[in-house]
Amino acid sequence: MNKRTCDILIHNGQILTMDSDRRIYSPGAVAITDSRIVEVGSDPDLQQSFDARKMINASGAIVHPGFIDAHNHIVHTTCRGIFGNIHDAGPLPINFAEWKASVTDADEVAATALAEIEMLRNGFTMFIEPGSLFSTEAGTEAVERVGLRALFSPLYLWDRREPFDAIPALESPSLMARAPIDHNRCLRQLDAELYRNSDPQALVRGYIFVYGEGTASPELLKAAHACARGNNVPLHLHAGYVPHGADYYHAMTGTRQLLHLQELGILDERTVIVHANALDAEEETVVQETGCQIVWCPTAFFSLGLASSTNFKMSERYRQGTCVSLGTDGAFDCTPGETMLAAHYASQAYADPLSPGALLEMQTLNAAAAAGLDAELGSLESGKRADIVVRSSRSAEAYPGNNPVHALALRMRAGSVDTVMVNGAVVFSGGHSTRVDEREVYQTVSDSVTARANRIGVELSSEWQIANG
Ligand SMILES: [Zn+2]
Repeated sequence: MNKRTCDILIHNGQILTMDSDRRIYSPGAVAITDSRIVEVGSDPDLQQSFDARKMINASGAIVHPGFIDAHNHIVHTTCRGIFGNIHDAGPLPINFAEWKASVTDADEVAATALAEIEMLRNGFTMFIEPGSLFSTEAGTEAVERVGLRALFSPLYLWDRREPFDAIPALESPSLMARAPIDHNRCLRQLDAELYRNSDPQALVRGYIFVYGEGTASPELLKAAHACARGNNVPLHLHAGYVPHGADYYHAMTGTRQLLHLQELGILDERTVIVHANALDAEEETVVQETGCQIVWCPTAFFSLGLASSTNFKMSERYRQGTCVSLGTDGAFDCTPGETMLAAHYASQAYADPLSPGALLEMQTLNAAAAAGLDAELGSLESGKRADIVVRSSRSAEAYPGNNPVHALALRMRAGSVDTVMVNGAVVFSGGHSTRVDEREVYQTVSDSVTARANRIGVELSSEWQIANG
């Protein structure tokens, strides 16, 4: 038999394909040419079928589609250990919005590079950034340098300020000076990131994120929806973040947010509601009727202290067929690698458990759908992009190896990743970036945060004093 040629053959792996049958090949193999997967199957079959230019031996470890973080304000990664709670700055002289506004392009590059390395270490190959980068060019530079994928939106699309009365930590004169609450600015910028999508190989693509929570007028929402549909990209917005914000929306408009969005005709299968912590029964019906998607940010849910003031519906929504994906929101007290575990415990706490397999679907297939890229990403199947993670067979958390679905969803996080491929290129190998000097990235981000804090008069502190010298 004539063998076919491929660029890379990942062999001797436990391949979690996430295909429609959820097949696991063990031992299995994945053949890759250029940026795409050309075949997935049993190890003997593919070894017989392919001559590979390069072989990667997975040594029996789990191989899976790269995780996708469906909602991550990427630059917030660098406010770790500064704000205990973004809604309560405590003794700090500034609020969270002022901190956000103080960022420079160099700070954004530093934060994005750090967040990406952390994502690679946790098996992520893509994130969706919700319009909080002041310089998407700087962000793109960092994304391309480290080698992940990202989806970028224009900066803070909002044209009504009243809802900030309910969430004052998210408003400051400095932030609104850099991202004016202005209808015409938003209309002008709606399609600003979409030019990226004309290049099918682009790692950074564009979509539209409207800030939501009542900060967009009906006219802006309709224009954003029309622009998104006209350009075949998803439309995301925050909704149902916290109960008092949802109540404020009702008081301001006379209707609940999702009912209002349905009336405006902007909810459909490519509209993605982020958070959905505080929806009422009628809004749950709207989710079912419209088929809109939901991004769930479980670590943010816990940080916001909503456990006693909201009804937990994520498991029920998932069972009813809603496309629920997982996001981080801001990686303040966590990394994206803890998201599935947080979702697991949230569902357990409400006695409505989600299976490990459901969590993996939310972090792969469903997150790819939130990105509008489910035909390209989210599973290991012939024709899809080669965004592939090979875990380490030396990771203790992988054992016993009887249930790889459980191991991957709940036990294996940072440090258990050996190799990551994005778009067919190996960007992480032996547990480290192949593209950047990680120590340089870490030093740069520490320097960036120190300089930023000094600039705006925030004293960086630790709960316990650090003795220098
Ligand atoms: Zn958000």
